[in-house]
Amino acid sequence: MLEDKIYAALKNIVGPENISRDPAILETYAYQWCNEVDNTLKGREPSRFGQRPEAVVLPGSAEEVQAIVRLCNEHDIKFKALSTGQGAWAGVTVPRAIQIDLRRMNRILEINVQNRYAVIEPYVTNAQLQAELVKHGLIHNAQGGGPQTSPLASHTSFVGPSFTSSHTGFSGRNLLGAEWVLPTGDIVRVGSFNYSGEWFSGDGPAFSLRGVFRGGYGAYGGLGVFTQCAIRLFSLPIPKDWKWEIKGTVPDYEWNLPPYWKMFVLNFADWDTFTEAFYEVNDQDMSMMAMASSAEGLATMFTNTREAALEAIFAGLLVKTQRYFVVMVTAHTEREFDYRTKFLQAILKKYGGQDLIEEGVVTAQPMHYAEGLRNSLGNHAFRFTSCFQSTHGGLDTIAMSVKIGIVNQPIKQKYIEKHVIGDDRGEGIWITGYEGGHMAHLEVPTVYDPSSPESCRGYAYYQDECNKADISNALGIPFFIVGDAFHDSYGPNVMDYPRWLRKIKAAFDPKGVSDPGHYVSSKPREGST
Ligand SMILES: Cc1cc2nc3c(=O)[nH]c(=O)nc-3n(C[C@H](O)[C@H](O)[C@H](O)COP(=O)(O)OP(=O)(O)OC[C@H]3O[C@@H](n4cnc5c(N)ncnc54)[C@H](O)[C@@H]3O)c2cc1C
Repeated sequence: MLEDKIYAALKNIVGPENISRDPAILETYAYQWCNEVDNTLKGREPSRFGQRPEAVVLPGSAEEVQAIVRLCNEHDIKFKALSTGQGAWAGVTVPRAIQIDLRRMNRILEINVQNRYAVIEPYVTNAQLQAELVKHGLIHNAQGGGPQTSPLASHTSFVGPSFTSSHTGFSGRNLLGAEWVLPTGDIVRVGSFNYSGEWFSGDGPAFSLRGVFRGGYGAYGGLGVFTQCAIRLFSLPIPKDWKWEIKGTVPDYEWNLPPYWKMFVLNFADWDTFTEAFYEVNDQDMSMMAMASSAEGLATMFTNTREAALEAIFAGLLVKTQRYFVVMVTAHTEREFDYRTKFLQAILKKYGGQDLIEEGVVTAQPMHYAEGLRNSLGNHAFRFTSCFQSTHGGLDTIAMSVKIGIVNQPIKQKYIEKHVIGDDRGEGIWITGYEGGHMAHLEVPTVYDPSSPESCRGYAYYQDECNKADISNALGIPFFIVGDAFHDSYGPNVMDYPRWLRKIKAAFDPKGVSDPGHYVSSKPREGST
C-alpha cells in the first residue's frame, strides 16, 4: 500500500478530483482483455484480472506528468502510462506501482493541412481525429484496434499496422516528433519540433532518438511518458464540400459512398498466385486497403451479426473462397479510378483469379467501407465468443507473412481438434500490406472462450507452441513478445537483441521506475555477458 504521505504528495500535483485509490476504481484498471492468457502462461488461473495499481492519477499536463515521475524516482515507485487503455499491455505489472491515466489530455493541438501533419495529445481517439481530418480530405494511420483507441499510443509506443496501411503506412514510421517525459522526469522534445517549433520531421537536428524509444514495436510504457506527438497525414479522396447522408443506426446504417470508391475481393487458386498478385497490388501503391484473411474472416468482415456470418459460411462461401485479399480502391478522379480498376482486372487475368464481390459470393455494404476506414473491422472477431487474440505476428515481407501462415496451419489445426479454440480449419490469418512494395504485417487471430479455463489454457498452449515454431523456423519476433522472460527466450536466437534493449533501459531509466513488465528490465539475462 502506498504510504499516506506519498499519496498526499501525488494529490497535491493533480488535485483531489484526479487521484484515486478506491479498490473498486483500481480493479477496473487491473481488468484487461488478454490477461487470461498471460496468467495461464505464468502458471496462474486464467483470470482477466492482472496486477492492481496502488493508485491511479489523471495528470492534465506534461508538467504534472513530470512532477509525478520525479516523485516516483524519489520514492522508488513504479509507474505505467496509458492513453486509451485497450488490452493487457496498458496495466501495471508489479506491486508498488501507480497507473498514469492520460485521459484529461485529450486535445487535437493542430491540424496542418498544407504540411499534412496533426499534433495530438494521448487521449485523442482515432474517431475524434478522423472526424476532424475528413473535413480536410485527410486521413491518418488509425491502428486496427479501432476508433476508440489512441493514435498517440500507437505512434509513440505500440506496434501500429492498420486496415488502411497499404495507403497510410505503419504508425512507427509516421511519427514526426514527440514530447517525451523521460523516466528520470526530464522533458525532451524529439524531432524537428525541438529545433524549429514545427513538426515536419521525426528526427534531428542531431542524432535520432526515434529508433531508441520507438524502434519496431515501441516500448509499451517501459520508457517514460509521451505527452504529445505529431503524426503524418495522408489524402482521403472525397470531393470538396461532399455532403454525408447517414440513415439508420449501427450495425445497419447506410451512407452515401463518395464517387470512385469500390471494394474488390481478389481470389486466387493457391498461395503462389496470391503472393505474386499481392506483391503487384501493393507495389503500385494504389489501394486504400489491401489485406488478406480466411473464408471465415471474410464472412465475419462483410456481415453485421454472428448469425449472418455463420449463414454466409454455410451458404457456400467456404467452398468458393481460396486465397484472397480485399482491396478498397479510392480515387480522386474518374481517370484515376478507371486506371486502378483496370489494373486490378489485369491482375486477375494474369494470375487467373476472380473478384468474389463480382461473383456474388460476398457483398460489401457501405457500412463495411466505413468500418474499413475506421479500422473497426477487426472488432468483428469478438463476435463469436467475445474474445480473440493473435499468435505469431510481425512486420516483415509479404513472402514471410505467407510462410508463417503455412507453418501455422497444422499447429492450429491440432488445437482445433482438441476443441479448445475456434474452428477456422487452421486458416485464420490477417495480412495487411504497408508502405507499398514488399512489406506486410501478419498475425493469426484465434478465437477462444474467455469464460472457459480449458479454452484459455488451450489457447495459451497453442500460442506457446507457435512461439517455439517462430524461433525454430526463424519467423521473426511477434508483437506480444514483451517482458524479460519472453525476450530472453527469443534473444539467443535473434542476435541477442535484449542486450541492446537493456542498455537503452539502463541509460534512460537508471532507477528502473518506468514499469518494465511489457518492455524489459535492465537486469542482464542469467549467463549472458
Ligand atoms: C480487434 C483488435 C484489432 C487490433 N488490431 C491492431 C492492429 O491492427 N495494429 C495494432 O498496432 N494493434 C492492434 N490491436 C492491438 C491493440 O489493442 C491496439 O494497438 C490498441 O490501439 C492499443 O491500445 P490503446 O490505443 O488503447 O493504447 P494504450 O492501451 O493506452 O497503450 C498501449 C501501450 O502503449 C503504452 N502507452 C500508451 N500511451 C502512452 C504514453 N502516452 N506514454 C508512454 N506509453 C504509453 C501503454 O503503456 C501500453 O503498453 C488490436 C486490438 C484489437 C482488439
